[in-house]
Order: sequence, then structure tokens, then C-alpha cells
Amino acid sequence: MRGPDVQAKALDARALAALAANPGCDRRAILDGAGVDKAALAGALGAPSGFGQSQFALTRGNAFEAKVKADGGAELLRLVHEHLDPKAAPPADAHLPDLGAPGPEGRTARTELTLREATYAAAATGTGRWSLLDHPMLALDVAGSAAFLEPDAVVVHPDGSWTVVEIKSFPMLDGSADPAKVGAAARQAAVYVLALEQVAARLDPAPEVRSRVLLVCPKDFSNLPTASAVDVRKQRAVTARQLTRLTRIEDIADDLPDGTCFSPRLPAGELTAAVESVPASYAPECLAACELAFHCRDRSRAGGAVTALGRTVRAELGGLTTVEDVLAAARGEQGDPADPAVAALRRAARLRAEALATAAGGGPAGPDAALAGSDAALAGAAREAGGGTLR
Ligand code: SF4
Repeated sequence: MRGPDVQAKALDARALAALAANPGCDRRAILDGAGVDKAALAGALGAPSGFGQSQFALTRGNAFEAKVKADGGAELLRLVHEHLDPKAAPPADAHLPDLGAPGPEGRTARTELTLREATYAAAATGTGRWSLLDHPMLALDVAGSAAFLEPDAVVVHPDGSWTVVEIKSFPMLDGSADPAKVGAAARQAAVYVLALEQVAARLDPAPEVRSRVLLVCPKDFSNLPTASAVDVRKQRAVTARQLTRLTRIEDIADDLPDGTCFSPRLPAGELTAAVESVPASYAPECLAACELAFHCRDRSRAGGAVTALGRTVRAELGGLTTVEDVLAAARGEQGDPADPAVAALRRAARLRAEALATAAGGGPAGPDAALAGSDAALAGAAREAGGGTLR
């Protein structure tokens, strides 16, 4: 499906986490399952991705991570102790194993061996020693092939349990951060938790992989680290479900026309038809999670889909899936009056007509006159929801 001689794009933690951000999208599931390079595909479709971090953000992120891990990870371990395991002995004299090895397979094997040794040493000797694994490498089985993942850090506690640490460069202001960014970080950490669980399952006795991860960010507008424990059980469950679903992408593929191919080398028209043959479920959240977002947003807007206005709006409108349907229902031209969404729309249209009439100082205008304005308002809202500051 990705085309002859096209190299498969390996899935990384961000890609796997994004699957959990939009679990209902067949398009993304099949493209990821087929190893299609979605950034190249978006470019070939004429809607290049604006997705990814700028060089400046990467440099700033790397500098902050180096600061957090300085002095043998003393500050990082202090934060893990304070937020996740305050009853354990303080992390003095922590073990910082060397994880160097050739190639991702070698690094994965080395990480697994190190985790095993650190866990058994902690349990057997009862010395209460902490271990910090800096950039370990984990392998997660995805639809039969290994995806190699590199968390910022994994900490082995004195009781032998394991914690994932995510270091991000967005600020935590007064103890809280942008919920969208925290959500993305939690989904990414949940992928690492799943990968660690696969390692833990091979040990006997299996150590606990903690479902509360540590998110480390700059405090307020400084570059001093602060942290928060984030429970990723929900994100872990969604990602695990999505990965099981990836192994069944044959079901989605069965519904596609024979010979469907997503090679970026195909002519744009042919490629667009192939992509459009797979159902998508666009939502504004895609802009922060998927390389195809600009393409799907354009299609969604062109079709007047209410999902372009956000999932909440979509959920409120029940069976009304297009802006045209919504306006027709408000005008009383279609829809079941007993449907709460239809009833609410008609009432809103009536109230708006009354308000406009009062403002104009005349008699009440009909809903049709008011809805002429609603069309413009909805179009404006659609523009805002899809465009914003991103494009
Ligand atoms: S941008 Fe398109 S392909 Fe990607 S998740 Fe959203 S709807 Fe699916």
C-alpha cells in the first residue's frame, strides 16, 4: 500500500501516542499500519504538514533536559522521590548505568539487562538504591514488528518498581500547564509504560511498572525544573486498544478498492482519491497530532462537516453531521422536533430572531432572516476553529 520500493516509516512514541489522540480515525490507522510516511504524503497532496518542533524549540528542550539531568540526575531523582515515592530512602548515591550499545537492537538488549540487574539488586540486597536510566531504549511490538522507543528517563525505585520520566520544555505556571500539551505528554508516556510492561512481563517476579509518570517542566518563566505526577492509566488503556486494532487493519483494508496505493510518487489526483477512499474523523485536535491535518481539515470544511468545529460541538449535535443539516434543522426544514438537538437549535433560532428584532427596534423577524446571519456566524466559527493561529 505504501508503494513499491518505498521504505516503511517506523512508528515512534509520538506517532503511537497520536493514535490514541484520535482513536476513531481509520485513515490514520491504515496509513500508520502500512508504514506510510504521512509527512511526505501530505506534501504530495499539496497540504504540507506544519507539524513538528522548530529548531529553536528543540535546542531549548535539549538544554532544559541537560539541566534536569545534571549532577548525576540529582534534581531529577529528588523530584521523583518527592512526588512519587516520599516514603523511600532519599536518592543519594544513585546508580547511573551505561546503556551504550551498537544499534537499536543492541541498546534495547542492554536496557533490558540493566533493568533486570537494577531491579533484582534493589530487591535482593534491600539496600534501597535508586537507579536512573538515561535515554534507555525499549522495543514495543506493533502489529508484528518492533517499534523502538526512547523515553527521556526510567527510574528504578528502591522497591524495584519502575517509573517513566518525561521532560518537556513547556512551562508549568503555578503548578499547572497547558492541558493539551500535558495530554500529549501523557499519551506519549503511556506508550513507554506499555513498552516497559512488555519488558517487566519477561522477568520473574515481574516488577511493578508505575502508572503514574513524572512530568518535568520549567517552573513558571524560569528554567528551574518543577514536576507533577500524571496518572496515565486511561491513556495506556486507549493506546493498548488502538494497538490491538492496528493488528486488525486488514478489516479496514478489505473495504478499500483493489490496488489502493498511497505512494507519494503517484499523481496528485490519484493519490487524493486513494486517501479519500479511507474514512477519516477530522477534529481540530488533529492539528497538533497528525501530519495530514491540513488536508483533512480542508476536506472536512469543504464537506461542511461539523467535526471541523470541534468534538464537543459534534457530540452536542447528535445525528446532524453537516453545517447544512444544522441550519436546515434550525429553520424547521428537517429533523425530528423530538430530537433534543433539533429542539435546541429551533429555540436558539427563535431567540436570535427575537433578539435581532429587538435590537433593530422593529417587530420580530422570522427565523429565516436570523439564519442568514447564522450562516455567516457559523462560517466564521468554522474558520476560527480550523484556522486559529496555526495556519
Ligand atoms: S488528520 Fe486526518 S488522518 Fe490524521 S488523525 Fe485527523 S482525520 Fe485522521
